[in-house]
Amino acid sequence: MTNYPNYGHIDGPIVMIGFGSIGRGTLPLIERHFDYDAKQFVVIEPSHDAHTFLTQRGIRHVEEKVTRENYRALLSGLFPDGKGFCVNLSVDTSSLDIMKLCRELGVLYIDTVVEPWEGFYFDTPDNADRTNYALRQTVRDEKARNPGGPTAVSCCGANPGMVSWFVKEALMTLVSDTGRSDPMPTSREDWARLMQSLGVKGVHIAERDTQKSSQPKPLGTFVNTWSVEGFISEGFQPAELGWGTHETWLPETAHSYDTGCQAGIWFERPGAITRVHTWCPTPGPQYGFLVTHNEAISISDYYTVGAPDAPAYRPTCHYAYRPSDDAVLSLEECFGSGVTQTKHHILDENEIIGGRDELGVLLYGHEKNALWYGSRLSIEEARELAPFQNATGLQVSSAVLAGMVWALENPEAGIVETDEMDHVRCLEVQRPYLGPVEAHYTDWTPLANRWTQFEEDIDESDPWLFRNVLAS
Ligand code: NAD
Repeated sequence: MTNYPNYGHIDGPIVMIGFGSIGRGTLPLIERHFDYDAKQFVVIEPSHDAHTFLTQRGIRHVEEKVTRENYRALLSGLFPDGKGFCVNLSVDTSSLDIMKLCRELGVLYIDTVVEPWEGFYFDTPDNADRTNYALRQTVRDEKARNPGGPTAVSCCGANPGMVSWFVKEALMTLVSDTGRSDPMPTSREDWARLMQSLGVKGVHIAERDTQKSSQPKPLGTFVNTWSVEGFISEGFQPAELGWGTHETWLPETAHSYDTGCQAGIWFERPGAITRVHTWCPTPGPQYGFLVTHNEAISISDYYTVGAPDAPAYRPTCHYAYRPSDDAVLSLEECFGSGVTQTKHHILDENEIIGGRDELGVLLYGHEKNALWYGSRLSIEEARELAPFQNATGLQVSSAVLAGMVWALENPEAGIVETDEMDHVRCLEVQRPYLGPVEAHYTDWTPLANRWTQFEEDIDESDPWLFRNVLAS
């Protein structure tokens, strides 16, 4: 790709909050695809590390933390004229508060996660309040209270984000591969009815990251291919998933909700040590971690048919994440010792010697059993496509780009999640950065390839029950 499409003019300042692995990767895509006044590009990032890089590019570096106390004054000062774009790619800043302020100021907004203020993940006493269900519901409640107005795109990374667009592509693939001729739905209700009529029981966000470095992981260092802080925070949150209407059994430690969308349940156990059986094209069957993610709830909610408290149909949905080998070792060390490593390291595009991030959606339980649809981006392709990021980063930053384009083209859409955006347009923008985007059918089920020497808590009446997916 050398002839980069131009997606239009961003009027007013662009303020990026956080300049970690995703911020560094998103910057060149903004430079490539938008017109804007370079003098009005500002990055708020407390670390000094990026200072030279930013100032050499003529980007103003505000070297401070955005906090509960300073965010109003800081951001209002940077957006004086009721226009511009706020791109929030930091940890420890409240997505909800910043999104509300941006909408008050008339500024477009995007983030990749419903991030809370510092302290939330580890200092919140009640586990129910530490869930992504609780975090997401705050944004949904704000949307309900204040519909319409300036566009704020919530959770537009790879996952949450791009995977919601893949679910729709996968559904339309199933339509044509089962000989049906349903038109593409145009409303949430019709998408939900389509999924129901196709017999989809659930969705795994099924990921395998095989990126590796030539250096073995040092003892005492947490190594990952994206934010270590972000991964540790979500790994320590309770395991959580969208809970489908085909499920017949609840784990003993499960809790449900009687307020909000009621699409999810959570367990009294951290997601990073809760394993599930899943499937990706390269490894075939594999273990994944049931790490909580916003999309597990948003997808189950979006595809619900009927009332939230008594749905006629709802798919089960959860993340089934097999991170890079170094990240698995890091998690084991962290949970085994009970101590979070103080040294953090994100593998960058120069030290990774091979591998790919295979990230897709596995739609299961329908007449063709299971369909994986997703991106299989290698580190080599990622290096060729865009600078300053590995394959994981590019899947995220290109989703941010797509979300920014959509927001510019739909500036008065209010608060939206990626399930609610035009997936065709978003993927049109993002696809050139995703490497091979492929559909793979499999006859694997969670009851295949199981050890028979030991008794397991399974239910053979339906292979796709969560009881069979949860690894004992
Ligand atoms: P990172 O840890 O590499 O970078 C985060 C940056 O935020 C750091 O540079 C840090 O100094 C900065 N920061 C910390 N506190 C801040 C504050 N109060 N104000 C301003 N900046 C602050 O993380 P990353 O890999 O770049 O990820 C960024 C965010 O994107 C995280 O919230 C992460 O969970 C999210 N993410 C989402 C997806 C997705 O697919 N949806 C994927 C990867 C990362």
